[in-house]
Amino acid sequence: MMDIDLRSTMDIQITALEWMLRDDGRYVRYYPEAGRDVYLEQLPDGSLRVTPPEFHDEVMSIFEYPLNGVYCGDNKLLLRLREFYRRCWVMKLQDPYISLIITILTQNKTADSARRTFHKLQHRYNGIDVHKMAGADKKELEELIHYSGPYKAAYIIECSRQIIERWGGSLEWMKKVSTEEAREALLSLYGVGPKTADCVLLFSLGHSVTPVDTHICRVSQRLGLSTSTGDSEAAKRKVKEDLEKKHRIPGMAHLLIINLGRDFCKALVPLHHICPVEDICPKRGVVRPERLL
Ligand code: SF4
Repeated sequence: MMDIDLRSTMDIQITALEWMLRDDGRYVRYYPEAGRDVYLEQLPDGSLRVTPPEFHDEVMSIFEYPLNGVYCGDNKLLLRLREFYRRCWVMKLQDPYISLIITILTQNKTADSARRTFHKLQHRYNGIDVHKMAGADKKELEELIHYSGPYKAAYIIECSRQIIERWGGSLEWMKKVSTEEAREALLSLYGVGPKTADCVLLFSLGHSVTPVDTHICRVSQRLGLSTSTGDSEAAKRKVKEDLEKKHRIPGMAHLLIINLGRDFCKALVPLHHICPVEDICPKRGVVRPERLL
């Protein structure tokens, strides 16, 4: 049996946002080919249940390898986190166009809202693709994605048209070119910024880059993995450079930092007293940590 902690696996990867988290704790994904929803849940004994069961093998194939297989060099902090989050799995690369749309939906919004909006789109269009989105009615799309930001309807329609006009509707060619070339092409699309481009590069094109947002920035600074301060765009660039070039860890290792930030190293009240790396973390930049316990 695959030993997977579903929550730490599904909450942190763009690839997982195809699955909407329901109020009853089950994840649900719409399978357009079958025209139905499929459910995934973790049972009290740790096993995973797929409903209906005939989708079991297909659903389990989304899990690629456990995070404890990711390279962390000799960095003590990351090695400790790798052991702690050994039941978190890296998921299979996603269709790059789907990855792009989901990442656009997450811009300035929570992952939960992106999950819900994407699920709604999948139902409405019986599975989205670049041609359906390029021809979508803007008003209707604005209403459908209302909670993730109606202004993104223009991003989705226009970037889909650009992908069709420039590259025949596919982003697959970006797997075979250099990271710089692929990033430049993604950044040329309407509505795509550096973080969105990095997510697509990492989660669907197989390029080893580290997407850096405010949370990764904050936790990396506290851990002492980066010497930058604050969370300006320049600070994020410096964090990215430190993680990619100084520590030379593969992009997927940033999932360890995301998990740590979500579970312990919270923005306002970092939970030092139960944090798995408390004894070796320099807590850089944390203001009067004793008052935050
Ligand atoms: S010890 Fe505190 S500052 Fe360091 S990672 Fe843990 S929660 Fe964050």
